[in-house]
Amino acid sequence: MLRILPGVRIVAVAAVAAVWCAAPSALTAQLAQARGIKVFVSVDMEGLAGVVTGSDVSAAGRDYAHFRAIMAGETNAAIEGAFRAGATEVIVRDSHGLKQNLLPGDVDPRAKLLRGQGSGPKNMMEGIDASFDAVVFIGYHAKAGTPNAILEHTSTGNVIDLSINGVSLPEGGYNALVAGLFNVPVVFAAGDRALVEQLRALLGPMEGVAVKEEIGGDASLGLSPNAAQAAIRDGVERAVRNRAARTPYRMQGPYTMTLKVRTDRTLYPGAERPRAGEAVFRHADLLQVLNAFNQMK
Ligand SMILES: [Zn+2]
Repeated sequence: MLRILPGVRIVAVAAVAAVWCAAPSALTAQLAQARGIKVFVSVDMEGLAGVVTGSDVSAAGRDYAHFRAIMAGETNAAIEGAFRAGATEVIVRDSHGLKQNLLPGDVDPRAKLLRGQGSGPKNMMEGIDASFDAVVFIGYHAKAGTPNAILEHTSTGNVIDLSINGVSLPEGGYNALVAGLFNVPVVFAAGDRALVEQLRALLGPMEGVAVKEEIGGDASLGLSPNAAQAAIRDGVERAVRNRAARTPYRMQGPYTMTLKVRTDRTLYPGAERPRAGEAVFRHADLLQVLNAFNQMK
């Protein structure tokens, strides 16, 4: 008895210490396990396998129906990966153009689809809140001005650069900041090689799939959609399993936005225009900054 009991006690103390010494993200993961795992999937089109031109992702384009089906395929691959990793709920946000590209009947019925334009500032992240555990980006593209990228732009063709607190951000960057407001990390990104490299440089090492790469002009060398979807499914599964290794992307407020555009829009209330083609807006609330961006972009 005397020899066994102290040993048991030490083990118990060690177990308690292990819980209390765990990183906050590990504790968050343990809590998430208890209440289920929610995954948010934001899906754009420019970074889908095979897409090379604007007409591929425009409703009037000759092959739009084809790429719309590929969009559903990559979305469903991400959903499958999330559920394989133990997700209990997946919300998909159609994030391209008017947000009516994914046909509801084409999306894996285990997920819920958020489609159509919202009125709020979250835009491509409409629906995200603190109940989620991980964010996945599918079909994303690099920011305006990125070399060797396919269909690179930042939100609209009018934006030359969007910077917040001096950091130049692609869509995946400010969308990661929106998720960060709710303490949710981005765990995976699929798009062209430039997109994956750009987001890893900004958000840190994470799972991703480069489904294609630009090899000059509009030319792209890429995976078959089926191969891309298999890689996305496996990558999202690993990423959601390992989500505790990822940190939410956050900046210290207040937030100062510097927006450079080709054509000036009406100034948002409180914004300044230090010179033609540039608007500056400062606010403690990131969502107010995004409201200003959406009006002036
Ligand atoms: Zn898009």
